[in-house]
Amino acid sequence: MYYDKVESLERDEIDALQADRLRKVVETAMASPFYKKKYAEADIDPASIKTVDDVRRLPFTTKNDLRNNYPDGFLTRPVEDFVRLHVSSGTTGTPTAVYYTQSDLDKWADLMARSMYCCGVRKSDVLQNMSGYGLFTGGLGIHYGSERLGCLTIPAGAGNTKRQIKLIRDFNVSVMHIIPSFALYFAQKVRDEGFEPKTMPWRIALIGAEPHTEDTRKRIEELMNIKAFNSYGMTEMNGPGVAFECEHQNGMHIWEDSYLPEIINPQTGEHVKEGEIGELVMTTLTREGMPLIRYRTRDLTRFIPGKCACGRVHRRMDRIAGRADDMLIIKGVNIYPMQIEKILMAMPEVGQNYLIELIREKFIDQIRVKVEIKDEFFVEDMRVLQSLQKRIAAKLRDEILVTPRVELVMHNSIPKSEGKAQRVVDLRDVEG
Ligand code: ADP
Ligand code: ZN
Repeated sequence: MYYDKVESLERDEIDALQADRLRKVVETAMASPFYKKKYAEADIDPASIKTVDDVRRLPFTTKNDLRNNYPDGFLTRPVEDFVRLHVSSGTTGTPTAVYYTQSDLDKWADLMARSMYCCGVRKSDVLQNMSGYGLFTGGLGIHYGSERLGCLTIPAGAGNTKRQIKLIRDFNVSVMHIIPSFALYFAQKVRDEGFEPKTMPWRIALIGAEPHTEDTRKRIEELMNIKAFNSYGMTEMNGPGVAFECEHQNGMHIWEDSYLPEIINPQTGEHVKEGEIGELVMTTLTREGMPLIRYRTRDLTRFIPGKCACGRVHRRMDRIAGRADDMLIIKGVNIYPMQIEKILMAMPEVGQNYLIELIREKFIDQIRVKVEIKDEFFVEDMRVLQSLQKRIAAKLRDEILVTPRVELVMHNSIPKSEGKAQRVVDLRDVEG
């Protein structure tokens, strides 16, 4: 049932393990220039860490700290002790670099293998990794985990839909790792190429790396006739394999033997009440080369209360509601792109892609949402289309509290990137 023993630990055992590892990681971290200085200033003594709650006495580490100490201010040992380096995608600004020792890589591969096993991937599976290789951790991270689990692993990389389909059919691919926005596009493309999803050999899709809604998952599952499991991670915490859904698909188990998660109010820095949404803060508990302590992820989520039916005690987090950096402020109202996706993906007329444009109308910021409409709904009758457009605008207004401009466009007409989807484009200075 479980990949390793750690998964069946009880709560008190996890707490004890975390407290012990937290003390050790603080000790280790003090060998890095950044934490040495920071903890000396804050007068932190590792020996005083006795319980998990003691984490609250430690200062936060931010993305800016990483940038200001780029590239090697967080390393606990000389560069020659490291064997790998990744750089984050840089979705929200300057990228950050993470270095791994061989032991860090081994532990990461174990976590990845555990993650995949947890949602039903087995040694007998053939896994096609359709995310970009290179600096993006979704490539090598999934790759080594899949090999560790014993799967036949195909490093297909991103893009090239036709070749992807051929590989899947030729080698009986049963598991795909694919970015959700690309999965929607790909699923449609497979149909357009004349293949019936039911006749494809796949059974599991591992989807992650970008925010998506429950309806997006359902669409992927239906279009592909597959089970899709949410995978969460970030370069600063190794990459994928931080939290993963089990077969029950009701939130992602955070691997608490390796990470200490907290959810804080981003304004006050205090813990939110159990079950409330806030900013996820993470501590690496086992990384030796480049530990990060109380790292502010800027991702918004909540812990899901209660125990999962799979029996794992490792706490579950809800799907990411958005990144703090993604928040738009329109007419004084805070809006997250996922609120828009939630409405759109629940509407049967809407196709697989959309784009949010920030525009300026008469000196006032406004949003325009371009929405792909499925072919069968793209009729010639203007009245029908106008009423659909109005209905979408009204539904969006109910969710985001401002009325967006809605533009209906044809299926596959919004450019699709191979990597993470860029949902928002700022045209305020272009069109304004
Ligand atoms: P970047 O932050 O530049 O995109 P990464 O490739 O390290 O670089 O991406 C990590 C980020 O991707 C996370 O902080 C989170 O915002 C997003 N992310 C990763 N997995 C998921 C997921 N399953 N659901 C939502 N967002 C995710
Ligand atoms: Zn579970």
